[in-house]
Amino acid sequence: MTEFKHFIDGAFVESASGRSFENRRPHDGELAGLVAEGGRAEVDAAVRAARTALEGPWHKLSVDDRSDLLRAVADGITRRFDDFVAAEMADTGQPRSMMAHAFIPRGAANFKVFADVIKNVSTESFQTPTPDGAGALNYSIRKPKGVIGVISPWNSPLLLMTWKVAPALACGNTVVVKPSEETPGTATLLGEVMNAVGVPKGVYNVVHGFGPNSAGAFLTEHPGVDAITFTGETRTGTVIMKAAAEGLRDVSFEMGGKNSAIIFADADIDQVLDGCARSVFLNTGQVCLGTERIYVERPLFDRFVAALVDRAKTLKPGDPTDSATNFGPLISREHQQKVLGYYERARDAGATVWTGGGAPLLEGALAGGNWVEPTVWTGLGDDHAIIQEEIFGPCCHVRPFDSEAEVVALANDTQYGLATSIWTRDLSRAHRMAAAIDVGITWVNCWFLRDLRTPFGGSKQSGIGREGGVHSLEFYTELRNICIKL
Ligand code: NAD
Repeated sequence: MTEFKHFIDGAFVESASGRSFENRRPHDGELAGLVAEGGRAEVDAAVRAARTALEGPWHKLSVDDRSDLLRAVADGITRRFDDFVAAEMADTGQPRSMMAHAFIPRGAANFKVFADVIKNVSTESFQTPTPDGAGALNYSIRKPKGVIGVISPWNSPLLLMTWKVAPALACGNTVVVKPSEETPGTATLLGEVMNAVGVPKGVYNVVHGFGPNSAGAFLTEHPGVDAITFTGETRTGTVIMKAAAEGLRDVSFEMGGKNSAIIFADADIDQVLDGCARSVFLNTGQVCLGTERIYVERPLFDRFVAALVDRAKTLKPGDPTDSATNFGPLISREHQQKVLGYYERARDAGATVWTGGGAPLLEGALAGGNWVEPTVWTGLGDDHAIIQEEIFGPCCHVRPFDSEAEVVALANDTQYGLATSIWTRDLSRAHRMAAAIDVGITWVNCWFLRDLRTPFGGSKQSGIGREGGVHSLEFYTELRNICIKL
């Protein structure tokens, strides 16, 4: 059984209180390990260590040396690839292929991208005329914000955490990470990599625990934290924003979504099916960018629904280490109950359930896992909870539309604004639609294709701020102006 300890000031430590909580495997419910439960004492110690490193060894490193260290961290993840894959698989229950081909390599890539970004971004300068004719020179420098509190979710733990840790460190900050209580594995393992490649102690700290009245809340309330970056549910972001108001700390928020896919009748149906099926079912629907509302132009509607149902039927739940498995469980029993609750509400409201709609009966060890069936519905009203609320499961509602104006209004009828995907061969229409949908990220004829240099974030209640490439620098550094009279 694994023991997940905090990583504070370069050392793995237990909680001063001696408290810990259970970590269970989502695919069979077996106990995988015990996680140290952090409280105020651990958060205090981690913030202190981060402050000392910030003002000491980390501050003294040149940008080039910092960048080299981040590359070494990326290489360190790659060297221990199998360990990271195993840790994330145990935490999430998702198939090995997905960890190995997408989520773990992206964790390493995050460090490489920001190692490059930080070396290649210039700041502005202006020659300013003055009455005496001599002029002045204005230029800007970037300073790290300080100690950054990183609060991360469970749905792709390493990728989402490093998406924040990498730019924060690249910019010269130090971090205290509070990983999700559901997925302590890879954040802990990353501590070993940091030590192995020589990242100074105190630069990267991890405190495990829960959110409210626990490590998460204590971290966001801590006066020694200069800024908070958070990925998770919109209602959690609301609570964290209140905590950040004390001391006027800056926030960067990546939050929930209720993303649409819009499919026109001229689209390449095979391409649509590959992309859409993936966007609904990947990671068992636990992807912030995943699709839960699909709008299909009427001539293609019946054909599309039937074909999507066929795709859903190819999904095979199983042990994540089995190469035949291509569908994982939900993260927890609690989340399973939430998703099944939505399945029941859809049935009660008279939805047509084309496939799924319940929990599959799996045998043997898998019977203890948090399984739900991939599910496709039609026939619900536009204001039903299934269409309006983020479910975060392997399910979608499909609805026909007849005009561009109609589908723009439908797609925008939500409190969220994270992502959309538009499927058409008509490029002018794609441009028009992309400009009209209120989201941070629009994909045309693809989904989940990411260039890490581009701005990433949500509109409306899906986020505050943008991260990615140079945009991350806006949050993780403070731009200062220097004016020199010549
Ligand atoms: P969550 O909000 O429940 O938890 C996220 C993190 O916040 C966890 O570490 C949790 O312990 C912590 N937390 C909870 N309450 C807190 C509090 N009061 N103070 C401080 N910390 C607190 O989210 P989740 O269920 O882990 O993740 C799923 C959600 O994340 C979904 O809504 C999904 O859309 C969203 N998400 C968004 C993006 C994005 O980029 N926009 C990416 C991934 C996930």
